[in-house]
Amino acid sequence: EDKDAVDPAKLDSYSKKHFPLCMRHMHETLRATHHLKHQCRLNYGLFLKGIGLLYEDAMRFWRDEFTKKIDSNNFDKNYAYNVKHQYGKVGRMLNYSPYSCIKIITSSVGPGEHHGCPFRHWNPALIKQKLLEYGISTENANEIKNLVSDGHYQVACGKYFEYLHGKPPTNGINHPNQYFEESMNLEKG
Ligand code: SF4
Repeated sequence: EDKDAVDPAKLDSYSKKHFPLCMRHMHETLRATHHLKHQCRLNYGLFLKGIGLLYEDAMRFWRDEFTKKIDSNNFDKNYAYNVKHQYGKVGRMLNYSPYSCIKIITSSVGPGEHHGCPFRHWNPALIKQKLLEYGISTENANEIKNLVSDGHYQVACGKYFEYLHGKPPTNGINHPNQYFEESMNLEKG
């Protein structure tokens, strides 16, 4: 059953090759700042659960990153519960599902928060700059920027997929975990 479990050591490379922009951004922010706010931890944590990160690995992943900045007592007191909660180990013991694009696109994102859909919540100029940084050509980054300006967020996400993989997603993008699976399938061939 564990054969589809994700190796936590691969998350950095997966984030570059197989994560949609929303999840890649949260991953990179976590690595850079060793912290994410509550909504962000929930969005990203459920995505990671959805791609197959096991509970024990998730706890280690969050703990290792957060304790670069805070001590482990603080982590245990204030953050471990969230991870347990995401995996349905405490509280109402629900099996929470990762968020769909619609849910992410319609969520509100406050200052200092990093969840949300970049194509919806970022300024188009910032999107373009990030895409260039990620190796997308100027022409393709401009195309995506125009789609974003016209409000076609998921189409823009599909183009991001296409320019990274050399082929478009089969039926557009409607869920970050679907993005991940399609991307992994292309690699597996
Ligand atoms: Fe993430 Fe969906 Fe936005 Fe793509 S369209 S960046 S998968 S929320």
